[in-house]
Amino acid sequence: MGNKIFKCVACGKYTLEQVCCGQKTVGTKPAKFRVDDKYGDYRRRGRKRAVELV
Ligand SMILES: [Zn+2]
Repeated sequence: MGNKIFKCVACGKYTLEQVCCGQKTVGTKPAKFRVDDKYGDYRRRGRKRAVELV
């Protein structure tokens, strides 16, 4: 069920759709987002806190 992010190789946009511009998008690997990990950590904490508040 996880929201996988795909990238369209035709237009270069990131999308949640598996098809864009009439062709299949490519799944982005989590490793590609390693660069943002320090920010991702904050994001995860923020999300967790948000969940706890609900
Ligand atoms: Zn596209």
